[in-house]
Amino acid sequence: ADSTKANIGVIGMAVMGSNLARNLASREGNTVAIYNRSPEKTRTVVQEFPDAGFIASESIEDFVDSLSKPRTAIIMVKAGKGTDAVIEQLTEHFEPGDIIVDGGNALFTDTIRREKAVRETGINFVGAGISGGEEGALKGPSIMPGGSAEAWETLGPILKSIAAVAEGEPCVTHVGTDGAGHFVKMIHNGIEYADMQLIAEAYDLIRRGTGKTPAEIADIFAEWNTGELESYLIEITAEVLRQVDAKTGKPLVDVILDQAGAKGTGAWTVQTALDLGIPVSGIAEAVFARSLSSKPKQREAASDLPGPTGTWSVDDADAFVEDVRQALYASKIIAYSQGFDEIVAGAEEYGWDIKKGEIAKIWRGGCIIRAQFLNRITEAYEQDPGLVALVTAPYFTDAVSHAQDSWRRVVVAAAQAGIPAPAFSSSLSYYDGLRADRLPAALVQGQRDFFGAHTYKRTDTDGTFHTLWSGDR
Ligand code: NAP
Repeated sequence: ADSTKANIGVIGMAVMGSNLARNLASREGNTVAIYNRSPEKTRTVVQEFPDAGFIASESIEDFVDSLSKPRTAIIMVKAGKGTDAVIEQLTEHFEPGDIIVDGGNALFTDTIRREKAVRETGINFVGAGISGGEEGALKGPSIMPGGSAEAWETLGPILKSIAAVAEGEPCVTHVGTDGAGHFVKMIHNGIEYADMQLIAEAYDLIRRGTGKTPAEIADIFAEWNTGELESYLIEITAEVLRQVDAKTGKPLVDVILDQAGAKGTGAWTVQTALDLGIPVSGIAEAVFARSLSSKPKQREAASDLPGPTGTWSVDDADAFVEDVRQALYASKIIAYSQGFDEIVAGAEEYGWDIKKGEIAKIWRGGCIIRAQFLNRITEAYEQDPGLVALVTAPYFTDAVSHAQDSWRRVVVAAAQAGIPAPAFSSSLSYYDGLRADRLPAALVQGQRDFFGAHTYKRTDTDGTFHTLWSGDR
């Protein structure tokens, strides 16, 4: 290899790109080329991190020249038009066999489109979901690459060297062709929304049910983090709840405006699920809960609406906290089960061979939803690769059977107390819907046949039927 050239390049020197470039540079054998549209950012990165040995360029031509062949460049720019602009520049200068990686948060259908267009030039295009935020990019993210198997051969070792490591294994795998990586990253984010909302509901119920302070609830979360709920999100929740506001001396959570933002990947998960016909109700409620929180005018107008007239109180705080913990675990199982259902449906729709157990494995480290519990998912798919619903795997069935009484008590309590728990309650409804012998969908079919002659099927005979309803004239 030419020592004056870089074996890998990064385009986009905002926080994610610069951190990823530093991560790459810190690994044995890598020389990293960097480029950013505005050269000031590149200069700043070179100045701040002289030890990284970056080969910096201020034009795309120089950047391409600084790469050894086959050239490999990771794009870390603002997803959307920026990504298309950079791909266009790179395809002008790259040669067949070179590899363009998009590490941004692209919508998977954009990745499918881009991969197809770039492939026609003979250049490889790999859409790679990267999770873990700034710190993950720097210290080891979970990486979900799509694209061709050939590209993975070159790219695999590089990505393995910078990925997070969980139980000795790098958190990266070739997810599937074209948009598979970005699809799975999207589902990761959807599950993240559900996980966060469930934790928030648990906190709210405990606080309003027991009167415990945020600091006391922080201790509860820290305790939960030593058991089956052990995860990054539970861990940081304890820290957020413990934080005291320097200005007012109040718990910081009490001075943060209660309107949750979103960048759109949760909504994509739900939009895609609607197209695929997959009921990801827990994820959807989490996305909608953020939307509701961010409607101050409506919330103000509704603030005088009556709440429950009866009284509600928690007799045994410890028992209630344990009920909430169980409800959280059961609802979390449902959210993951729904997320994996969407992966299965997406794989079928787009022709990807996605190994579900491998996906759970690469989420064990580096990413936001990293958790102990993912090992149980990997095991479930190892035991039964054709598992039709995660919640029906023996381990999860046991867990939910054990939790369900608590789960029901918590949902009832939330309704009686007038405390919103959309993710808890929708997850329980989903569970009850899934296990029901008969659903009132039979009545819906009757209604559809009545007003639209949409026909129905019978339980006792094959074929399609239409009834001459009395409403027919
Ligand atoms: P960002 O704020 O999303 O994007 C800023 C970068 O994009 C700058 O380098 C900017 O260049 C470049 N850019 C924007 N439009 C461009 C165009 N038309 N042509 C060329 N370059 C253009 O940066 P970020 O937060 O570091 O994120 C980078 C990517 O990683 C995004 O796709 C993001 O969704 C994804 N991601 C972010 C996180 C996170 O925690 N932040 C986590 C996972 C994934 P200039 O300096 O010239 O403006």
